[in-house]
Amino acid sequence: MADHPIMECIERAAPLIESGATIHQKFTCLACGSRQTMAEANKFFTRGKCEECGHITNIEAQGCNYLVMWGKKTRPEDESPKH
Ligand SMILES: [Zn+2]
Repeated sequence: MADHPIMECIERAAPLIESGATIHQKFTCLACGSRQTMAEANKFFTRGKCEECGHITNIEAQGCNYLVMWGKKTRPEDESPKH
C-alpha cells in the first residue's frame, strides 16, 4: 500500500472525521518495514514508534496512510446525557 504525504492525509481525513468516521493513521516502519497503526483515533503524528522493533520513523518525511472506519457514531458527546 502506498503512503502519501502527511498533509495530504490530514486534508483528506478531516472531512471524513467530521462526517463521523474514525481515522487511524498508518505508517510503515523504516527499519523493519512492518505496517503500523496508531492506537489513538483521529490524530496524525509526525513521528511513529514501531511496535515490532522500537524504531521511530519520521512520518513527516516518510509519508503515511490511514484507516477509515465507518459505523456506529460513538462520539463521546453523543453518549452522555444532555443537561
Ligand atoms: Zn520496525
